[in-house]
Amino acid sequence: MTVHGDPPGMRRTSNGPLPDDLLSTCVSCGFCLPACPTYNLTGDERSSPRGRINLMRALQEGTLTADDPTMIEESSFCMGCRACEPVCPAGVQYGHLLEQWRHEVWQGDHKPVLVRLLTAIVTHRRLVHLLGVPRLLRHLVTSRGGRQVATAGEPADRSPARDATRPGAQLMLGCFERALFPAVSDAAQALAPELEVPAPQGCCGALHAHNADPERGSAMAERLGSELPGLIVTTAGGCAAHLASVLGEERVLELSQYLSTAWRPTGHLLFGGRRARVALQDSCHLRNGLGVWREPRDLIAAVADYVELPGAATCCGAAGTYSLLRPADSRAVLAPKLEALEEANVDVVVALNPGCLRQLRSGLARAGSPITAMHLAELLLAARQNRDIGAPHRKGPLRLLRRGSRGRQAQPRGGTGAG
Ligand code: SF4
Ligand code: SF4
Repeated sequence: MTVHGDPPGMRRTSNGPLPDDLLSTCVSCGFCLPACPTYNLTGDERSSPRGRINLMRALQEGTLTADDPTMIEESSFCMGCRACEPVCPAGVQYGHLLEQWRHEVWQGDHKPVLVRLLTAIVTHRRLVHLLGVPRLLRHLVTSRGGRQVATAGEPADRSPARDATRPGAQLMLGCFERALFPAVSDAAQALAPELEVPAPQGCCGALHAHNADPERGSAMAERLGSELPGLIVTTAGGCAAHLASVLGEERVLELSQYLSTAWRPTGHLLFGGRRARVALQDSCHLRNGLGVWREPRDLIAAVADYVELPGAATCCGAAGTYSLLRPADSRAVLAPKLEALEEANVDVVVALNPGCLRQLRSGLARAGSPITAMHLAELLLAARQNRDIGAPHRKGPLRLLRRGSRGRQAQPRGGTGAG
């Protein structure tokens, strides 16, 4: 038996709710434990990938029920970052197991109210279109100011990005990105003006897939795939990984992948007259799900002084809705990253996902840090314009909120999916 949304070729051989062949892949070696941010917070086996797989097995075998408090807590505490996958010698598909596990455990009242609200919003296409109003207003303002939105202030004939060999590539507008960060998709269009932006675009379904509704998540991805029938380009690493898992990797490219195929970065990002020092925060699902990590680094290094941040590959704590549902845990995961950014003395940190961008900006603001968080598209566009984004860097007092960084804080129930 297979279930809609299962990986190709997967078979369910028992009456348990989870896929046996995926569960049985884990050999309990524990190699994944050091990579797991929640295990690193607590040192508790139950908060590790291996511990959670054992909880899944207990559910499968019926020795624990879906309403067991540890089952509910650990399915929620997991950030869904999938950092346990690339380090696993047995090839355990933890991300898919997590989706199915939450589907079983987050039934009824166990599904957080905020998750229900957010998934309800992005399920309704008219509401998704309403999220695009800030982007439309931005276009109205910039066009009244005599500027072309598509080039964000730069004449179209100076664009190096036209490529007639790749017709039909279409820019996907993320649901919440179009409301919170409309400048990101505008910058992507300015960099790659050949990208079409079809108006009727729904949600890709990643939010559903990561929050206990994998079947609807797959159905929404397929619908978006029919609305965007060409190559889909997205500025959100989490959406790229989800769409690729449903539509196939040949149909979907995250922006850094797309630009790396034929586009050449130009200009320099400056900071007080010198090349800016720029670090990267990986998108968890982009790196751990699609294996994309080199492309954004190469693009940044072409226009700025790239600084590899210790822990760049570890989750920033945004993790989809995690930062909203479990703010103390989210901030505890972010805290060492903010410290590392200060230690590295960088001017800019780049995100590849709107959730990560929001998490970094709010964390840096809380800490009183002068470091700027930008999306890769914004950075590359600013570099093309040889923009100087600031005065010489002065180290500011870092007011990290350390509460919870040494141990767990009491949390409301909730959960998420990483970006
Ligand atoms: S998930 Fe992979 S790395 Fe972790 S315990 Fe199982 S087999 Fe080992
Ligand atoms: S998805 Fe992330 S938080 Fe969850 S078990 Fe894997 S490494 Fe740990």
